Amino acid sequence: MSRDKYFEERKRVVDYLVSLGYIKSDKVREALLRVPREEFVPEPYRDLAYVDRPLPIGYGQTISAIHMVAIMTEALDPMPGDKVLEIGTGSGYQAAVLAEIVCKNGGGHVYSIERIPELAEFARRNLDRTGYSDCVTVIVGDGTRGYPEAAPYDRIIVTAAAPDIPKPLIEQLRDGGRMVIPVGDRWVQRLYIIDKKGGKTIIRRSIECLFVPLIGEYGWKY
Ligand code: SAM
Repeated sequence: MSRDKYFEERKRVVDYLVSLGYIKSDKVREALLRVPREEFVPEPYRDLAYVDRPLPIGYGQTISAIHMVAIMTEALDPMPGDKVLEIGTGSGYQAAVLAEIVCKNGGGHVYSIERIPELAEFARRNLDRTGYSDCVTVIVGDGTRGYPEAAPYDRIIVTAAAPDIPKPLIEQLRDGGRMVIPVGDRWVQRLYIIDKKGGKTIIRRSIECLFVPLIGEYGWKY
């Protein structure tokens, strides 16, 4: 498929997600139009990059469906200049979408943690090739502990399913900040939108979803 053909496919999916109401804001629409998902999937899946479903990226993990990236990014509501922590780098695609928004006019940064070293390397290569590596730092580690070195964060997004909200992530969210995280059991979760205000956390429970497990000290143990 040619470069232009991929862009046409991307635009078709983005227009469809706008028509369904999953994409609501210009910033999310523009970010999804700019990031080439075909560069974040393994070579055999390139021509399926704009089928709106999760795709395998190896090691039993997946790149999330496009509508789920749209829904989570809208819920997170990142702003230009924000410092964002992502848990679950996977392919680096969601990190690139966030980078499009937070680094738009200079400033802003995305710290993204991945527990599988080979996937962190895959994401680094994808982000480098597509020009996002100045805005995104990929770290290998257990993201359930957060990344205290760069805390506090304006926004935290978790792209794997947690049994509960990891305490370190609440602590590393700045006052006035927001976190989006799927919480539930292994086979169905609900997207939680958590606002921290005046030291209190306000939790809104949003749509049902299905993510691979968040494995770590404050997540699942296996
Ligand atoms: N955001 C990714 C993307 O754009 O491709 C998709 C994320 S995939 C659904 C979930 C990822 O979370 C997997 O790569 C998995 O290895 C990672 N993960 C699971 N537990 C983790 C943890 N404790 N810390 C960091 N990453 C974790």
